Amino acid sequence: MLSAAVHQLRTPLTRNKWAFDLLMNDQSAALSGADKEMIRKMQQDNEEAIGMVNEILRADYENAAVSFVNKVKVNIGEIIEKTVHDVQRDALSRNISLTFDKTSSDGVQVLVDPQKMVYVFENILLNAIHYTPQGGSVTVQVHVTESVAQVSVVDNGIGIPEAEKGQIFEKFYRATNARAVETEGTGLGLYIAKQIVEKNGGSIAFESVENKGTTFSLSLPLVSVV
Ligand code: ADP
Repeated sequence: MLSAAVHQLRTPLTRNKWAFDLLMNDQSAALSGADKEMIRKMQQDNEEAIGMVNEILRADYENAAVSFVNKVKVNIGEIIEKTVHDVQRDALSRNISLTFDKTSSDGVQVLVDPQKMVYVFENILLNAIHYTPQGGSVTVQVHVTESVAQVSVVDNGIGIPEAEKGQIFEKFYRATNARAVETEGTGLGLYIAKQIVEKNGGSIAFESVENKGTTFSLSLPLVSVV
């Protein structure tokens, strides 16, 4: 998926950003004026690259949200498995254990646009990975009720502050604790994910306790359990 690949580009760019900031503030580095000027230029180029990556992500997600919804009958497990595979590298690089209990989705068929749902899951999984400290875990599970298939993404990360819960699906909104740990977000992912899910006849909700973790749940129209 394009957006997963582009998301991965953010990791080295963020690492560069930290390295440049560190160098510029390191008194013992004994940098000459010319050195500092060069580092400042590299810092600027790096910021520009981060801006471009964010712009590609934004355009990619918005494109997915507004384009035609093509609903078909699919096994929900296949969509989740593909997405988990796409973001697994991101999880590994942050030392996060990412697991999907595939048996919980055995035979569960939903009526959705599979490509659009990959975007949605990708965004929710990448959020769970980015907002969970190193060594944490993210698990995906499917539960079936009479009319819906509910997919839960559970993390034991930073959580969402109580006072900010009402704004999480707003365009460009990023919670204060999230901004502190991850500087590069756009605040657009969940806003667009919600639109896509609703266009597919589903709904999205979350439960969260700050410093304990977050569970995002997606309810999708169930076709059958075979
Ligand atoms: P972004 O991740 O680019 O900031 P999103 O629209 O995807 O934007 O998410 C909006 C905000 O919701 C995030 O900035 C963060 O504050 C919060 N959030 C989303 N998922 C999680 C999560 N799993 N744990 C903690 N906070 C989250």
